[in-house]
Amino acid sequence: MRVLDAEFVKDFMRMAGDGWDQGWHERNGGNLSYRLKPEEAESVREELAPGDWQEIGTSVPGLSGEYFLVTGSGKYFRNVMIKPEDSFCIIELDGKGENYRICWGLINGGRPTSELPSHLMNHEVKKSVTCGKHRVIYHCHPANTIALTFVLPLTDEAFTRELWEMATECPVVFPEGIGVVPWRVPGGRDIAVATSELMKKYNVAIWAHHGIFCSGADFDETFGLMHTVEKSAEILVKVLSMTPRKLQTIGPDDFRHLAVDFKVELPEQFLY
Ligand code: 13P
Ligand code: ZN
Repeated sequence: MRVLDAEFVKDFMRMAGDGWDQGWHERNGGNLSYRLKPEEAESVREELAPGDWQEIGTSVPGLSGEYFLVTGSGKYFRNVMIKPEDSFCIIELDGKGENYRICWGLINGGRPTSELPSHLMNHEVKKSVTCGKHRVIYHCHPANTIALTFVLPLTDEAFTRELWEMATECPVVFPEGIGVVPWRVPGGRDIAVATSELMKKYNVAIWAHHGIFCSGADFDETFGLMHTVEKSAEILVKVLSMTPRKLQTIGPDDFRHLAVDFKVELPEQFLY
């Protein structure tokens, strides 16, 4: 099968287009990766032409031999639908999880996203803690969440509780809470280590003054999670912009009752 005819590739492209439509991907902002199922890699093998091995910049032995769809560094989400072969690629990892090679795409040159270490370290953690269920890692630059990183304490507790309170569905969509990484230089191993540490507990990690990383089982779930977090952040930005501020809200006991009815576990850490 042709790569561009494969269902998982069409879903990848649609999600990138949806992110662009939301305004989360100015210029080359953001990146997306998907861990292929073995049968998906097999289905497009006729078009795979491996190039030279390149260093990942970190080590992900738990992903050895896996294939990924990943957006290119400096490429625009705006163009993923329009110029797919130029905008993203399929990469294969070597047996040690230390090198990758491009097998398809980026026809005009280039390399996978500069955040490849974060994507792959998050994939490695998520593959392990979800027993292989999670396959999508998504990074974008949504304005409301980023704005909040200038005014809220940069703690998991503050972000989780404030965002839970803004929409009743939030504690059901992300019951485990949200992690926060203080400002770091992007693109390297340090921020990847900090983010993947949070991904052991959470499916969302906020990068202060930069953006969000989300993880999910499929494209719909991952995009939906990002959308829910950012919508909640938008409500909070509106609330914080009004006087009086919160006159009433959803309190700790309300969350406890909701947890019982919706059969989710909400850590006590966030019910202060
Ligand atoms: P890339 O163009 O290298 O994917 O970088 C975009 C970005 O958002 C960096 O954090
Ligand atoms: Zn970014």
